[in-house]
Amino acid sequence: MDMVAATPAAHVLMFPCPVHGHITCMLHFATGLLAAGLHVTFLHSDHNLRRAAAASSPRLRYVSIPDGLPVEHPRDVGRIVELMESLKTKASVAYRSLLASLLLGDATGGFPPVTCVVADGIMSFAVDVAEELGIPALAFRTDSACSFLAYLSLPRLLELGELPFKDGDDLDEPVRGVPGMESFLRRRDLPSQCRDCSDPDNDPLLQIVYGFTAHSGNARALVLNTAASMERAALAHIAPHMRDVFAIGPLHAMSPTAPAAGGSLWREDDGCLAWLDGQADGSVVYVSLGSLTVISLEQFTEFLHGLVAAGYPFLWVLRPDMVGASQSAALREAVAAAGKSKARVVEWAPQRGVLRHRAVGCFLTHAGWNSTLEAAVEGVPMVCWPFFTDQQINSRFVGGVWRTGLDMKDVCDAAVVARMVREAMESGQIRASAQALAREVRRDVADGGSSTAEFKRLVEFIVELST
Ligand code: UDP
Repeated sequence: MDMVAATPAAHVLMFPCPVHGHITCMLHFATGLLAAGLHVTFLHSDHNLRRAAAASSPRLRYVSIPDGLPVEHPRDVGRIVELMESLKTKASVAYRSLLASLLLGDATGGFPPVTCVVADGIMSFAVDVAEELGIPALAFRTDSACSFLAYLSLPRLLELGELPFKDGDDLDEPVRGVPGMESFLRRRDLPSQCRDCSDPDNDPLLQIVYGFTAHSGNARALVLNTAASMERAALAHIAPHMRDVFAIGPLHAMSPTAPAAGGSLWREDDGCLAWLDGQADGSVVYVSLGSLTVISLEQFTEFLHGLVAAGYPFLWVLRPDMVGASQSAALREAVAAAGKSKARVVEWAPQRGVLRHRAVGCFLTHAGWNSTLEAAVEGVPMVCWPFFTDQQINSRFVGGVWRTGLDMKDVCDAAVVARMVREAMESGQIRASAQALAREVRRDVADGGSSTAEFKRLVEFIVELST
């Protein structure tokens, strides 16, 4: 990313929701802002700052506040609503005092006063508190534009009677309530929160999701980690609802150097790269369901048998907390026994390096947005098994719009896993689409590309807000 002239007084406080995918994505964003000459204060929760290794840069510093939950409280996916609630009611108080103190600047550390906040768009309070203190705030979403548009369309989906789902509704029925997606979006492709709601007026989750999505219209701008070549139509439909929209992704490809090195909250097992070195080109199936997905023992067994039946070597990320309460050692043994020498298991992989590796032929993924972008940039065909939230709609784009892979949603069956993995590995058409999309996305992030131009416009916007 080119350096642009920026006033040294522009100082951005970045406040991600304290979960892995949001933090790493915002660290890439921070890396871009640093390269553009801005100062960045990166706000972690105390809980995560203890886990994340901190990198140093003269214009970057880390600060933290309590997330409001007791130290031992689980912060896994099943308790995410409690975390969000605690951030809003408790962490927001500490955030307000921190911002007030940062407004005064820090002459000794060479940091000017904070002039702008980039807050995670799923934490509306972070935008409101900043604006109340007179600091302009932008909302940054780490999920896809297509899912943002689906959330924004919730009132229309309700008005058309397409939500809530009723017993016996055909999940393959098309929905018309999300603009621009009428020709391919089915009920089952709507974000998972839509599926779980039986009474939208009393469904707190749906109201929360709609609330923070629509609230981004109050921020000075909405910033999305996406590229025009992937989501042009969705971006055009979102724009009229926001004060401004910047599509600046995929950020990991805009700022490829490790941002603040300590992005990962897990220790990466680099040994798998050496294992990949010993495999033939395009021969390995990489399997990862991200940082939050949990599966049952039955689902684990279906995946395992499907992967073995597909017949290719596979590299599988099995987080210790991923399969219910099972012993991860026993699961690793099960994989080793079934996969013989063809299987490699790690608790956490250097995913971008893995996807870039010549030996990887396809990616069995939950279609989290970061993973989807990472596969898109590397041109790797995907088999998607979406778990929750935006993953349901992301996987529809993979299977039905970009056609860079196959969508296995709602099915977890060894025979289907085997069939889809084989097809993703062998289909020339899917590989060609994946490579064509990669070329387009790489153009977006190259000099003169749309994401690069948008990033420059965003830096100018922040500098202007800061003066
Ligand atoms: N990731 C990784 N190693 C792993 C699994 C995942 O580095 O073994 C990274 C991956 O590269 C991506 C992020 O974790 O950047 C997962 O984000 P995503 O949005 O795909 O899913 P989430 O974890 O939010 O469900």
